[in-house]
Amino acid sequence: MKLHFLSGGQLEIRKSIYFADADRDDMLELPVACGLVRHAQGNLLFDTGCHPSVAENAEVRWGGLTKFMRPTMDANDNVLSSLDALGFAPTDIDCVVCSHLHPDHCGCNEYFTNATILVSREELKAARATDTIKHGYYAADFEHPIPIDEFDGERDVFGDGRVVLKPLPGHTPGSIGAMVALDKSGLMFLTSDAVSIRQNLDDDAPPRNTWCRDAAFRTFAEVRDVEQSGATIVCGHDIAQWNSLKKGEEFYD
Ligand SMILES: [Zn+2]
Repeated sequence: MKLHFLSGGQLEIRKSIYFADADRDDMLELPVACGLVRHAQGNLLFDTGCHPSVAENAEVRWGGLTKFMRPTMDANDNVLSSLDALGFAPTDIDCVVCSHLHPDHCGCNEYFTNATILVSREELKAARATDTIKHGYYAADFEHPIPIDEFDGERDVFGDGRVVLKPLPGHTPGSIGAMVALDKSGLMFLTSDAVSIRQNLDDDAPPRNTWCRDAAFRTFAEVRDVEQSGATIVCGHDIAQWNSLKKGEEFYD
C-alpha cells in the first residue's frame, strides 16, 4: 500500500486566526494537503482540496469567505492536476474521504463520479443545516449525484485496519482524520483541520476558526496520545511540514 501527498491548492489566511497575538495584517501562506492511498482493494483520496475555478475567481464560488481566506495557487495547482501528474484520472478513484465539508477540503468532489464519498453523519448534518454558508459550507462542493456513505464513529474503510477513519470534532462538528497503517513508514495520521498547523497543537491553543473549543481540546489530547503511540501526525495546512513531506510521485509505503 502506498500513500502519496498531493497538493489541493494554496491559501492565504489571516495569521491572527491561528495565533491570537499575531498582527491583524499579517497573513499566513497555507498549503492544502490531500492524500492518495493506493490499496489493493482500490484508490482512496483523502480530501479533494479547492475547486479549480477559485484560482481565477474565488468570489464566484466562495463569496464573503474570501475576506478571510484567499486562494493563492495558480490555475494548475489542484488535486485533479496533482492526480494527473501521477497518471490518474478522477474516475480512477474508488473512494473519496471528506475530513470535513469546508470548500478547501471537498471542492473537487464533483469530479469523482466513480467514487463513493465517505463523510461523517455529523458533518453532513452540519453542512446541510439551514444558513450554513456563514459556517463555511457551500452546497456546490458536496451536493452531487455521487453516492454518499455517511457513518458514525470510527470506520475501517477496507476492513483490514489499513485505513481507519476516526472522529476528531472541534474545527467542525463532524471532522474526521484517517489513520493510515504503512508497512515501512508505520502509522501516519492525516488530521486535516483537526490540526491545521502544528504550533497550535504544541501550544494547546485551538485556532479562532474552531466550532467548539472544548471538543478541540479533547481532540488535541487524543492526537497527542496517538503521536505518543508512534504515529506521525500530518497537519492539514502546515507549510513547514508540507515542505518536508514527500509529495507527488514520491510516496510513503
Ligand atoms: Zn482547511
